[in-house]
Amino acid sequence: MPKQSPAAANKEIALLRSARNDIKKRVFVQTLMSKAMKKRHADQPTGISRRAFLKAGALFTAVGVFDVLSVFKKKALVSATSIKQTPKKPEVVVIGAGAFGGWTALHLLRKGARVTLVDAWGPGNSRASSGGDTRVIRAIYGPDQIYVKMVARSVQLWRENEKRWNQKLYTRTGALWMLQENDEFVRTSLPFLREYALKFDELSPMKARKRFPQINFEGVKWVFFEEEAGYIPARHACKVVLDVFVAEGGKYLQLSAKPDVIKHGTLHDIALSDGSTLGADHFVFACGSWLGKIFPNEIGDLIEPTRQSVYYFGTPPGDHRFVDENLPIWIDFGERILYGIPGDGRRGFKIADDTRGDPIDPTSDERKPSHEGFEIARKYLEFRFPALKGAPLLEARACVYENTPDHHFIIDRHPRARNLWLVGGGSGHGFKHGPALGEMVAEAVVAETPPNPFFSLTRFFLHEQN
Ligand SMILES: Cc1cc2nc3c(=O)[nH]c(=O)nc-3n(C[C@H](O)[C@H](O)[C@H](O)COP(=O)(O)OP(=O)(O)OC[C@H]3O[C@@H](n4cnc5c(N)ncnc54)[C@H](O)[C@@H]3O)c2cc1C
Repeated sequence: MPKQSPAAANKEIALLRSARNDIKKRVFVQTLMSKAMKKRHADQPTGISRRAFLKAGALFTAVGVFDVLSVFKKKALVSATSIKQTPKKPEVVVIGAGAFGGWTALHLLRKGARVTLVDAWGPGNSRASSGGDTRVIRAIYGPDQIYVKMVARSVQLWRENEKRWNQKLYTRTGALWMLQENDEFVRTSLPFLREYALKFDELSPMKARKRFPQINFEGVKWVFFEEEAGYIPARHACKVVLDVFVAEGGKYLQLSAKPDVIKHGTLHDIALSDGSTLGADHFVFACGSWLGKIFPNEIGDLIEPTRQSVYYFGTPPGDHRFVDENLPIWIDFGERILYGIPGDGRRGFKIADDTRGDPIDPTSDERKPSHEGFEIARKYLEFRFPALKGAPLLEARACVYENTPDHHFIIDRHPRARNLWLVGGGSGHGFKHGPALGEMVAEAVVAETPPNPFFSLTRFFLHEQN
């Protein structure tokens, strides 16, 4: 255990003492304080033991107290449990270099772990869910505050890293929400947006018509404009994250991986497609729509891959009504949820339908876009954006959603191996959360804390029992 100076021990105790004033946290903090003081009195200037701290950390997480003791968490957690201070840096293997795995690997590396990232076809490849040209970032998430918080954190991390990498990835266009039947999904999110200082506006349909004359607002009863929203060039961003990961000291292998046998509650190795094996202290499988096949008993059909078609239409030459500066991302909440990214990096006017498509095998099925989906997109385009009537289809592609039954992510330990994390279930909305999710997973792996119950596997089995 690393030695701590008396001054540092006193500082830690002062920190705990100030945190103790909060009644809710008193019991936890009291326990920690008495341990820290006992140690000081016993003339062992080591502060709180890593074990005691992790135990308390686990307790915090278990009772769902995530935001407690922000000072305590930020300073004491880092000083007491930082893996940089442990004699041996933990070795972690992350499998899957999509939005989830790539960011997890980068955060782990920055927390001091030795990390190997493995991907069968490479970051943002065409089979992967992260393999599209663009992905929307928006914070309106109905009643699910946790996602709003994660979006706020992800936006912050995109911005910080853009500066660090000297590259622009995030295009802020705002998002225009058009609601036809009821406005509940948006309204329930607004208090959370306020809480995380994410600006929005409600527009009357009349005002909206004036501001966006290129849209036919017929049938739209409520309009909201979310200012911080925008989009990320998805496949490119995955490659950037990998390049940075390697530049910062991570190791990358383009190979297929599968878990070896779990023994005594631990996974020791994975088997790689070149015939070798790779051992580590911790493993994170972030394999998108493949996760169910790799873990048939634990995940299986809890992740259902579906074919999702995206269409790009050509706008008239020199027409500026459909570029990022003049038209934001839009989301149309009607019988179906259709959405689009007008400029989409000059690929064309992108339209996609959030309705779940047919099941698909992400490895072997052909990626033919749906013809029925094309007819829906064309009809919709002509109705909502009349100037694009007859616009030619420039491109179309079929991508894969990795759906969980409740469309929430899975971030959990394998039920039989404490050092094996299963991360996925982006369910058509995961990309934007990559930076924050990676941070959460890396923290959990390093601190060996239990997962957030919202994302745990047990939620499905509890449902089954009820
Ligand atoms: C059409 C479409 C539109 C979307 N729009 C949005 C949007 O606007 N906003 C948003 O936030 N989200 C959106 N999403 C969802 C989002 O893209 C996904 O949720 C997210 O990218 C999932 O990332 P992931 O890392 O979990 O999975 P993936 O990107 O699929 O990555 C998994 C990786 O694991 C690798 N892999 C799999 N098996 C193995 C193995 N055995 N060994 C080694 N490597 C393996 C794969 O090669 C792959 O690179 C959309 C998805 C689609 C399909």
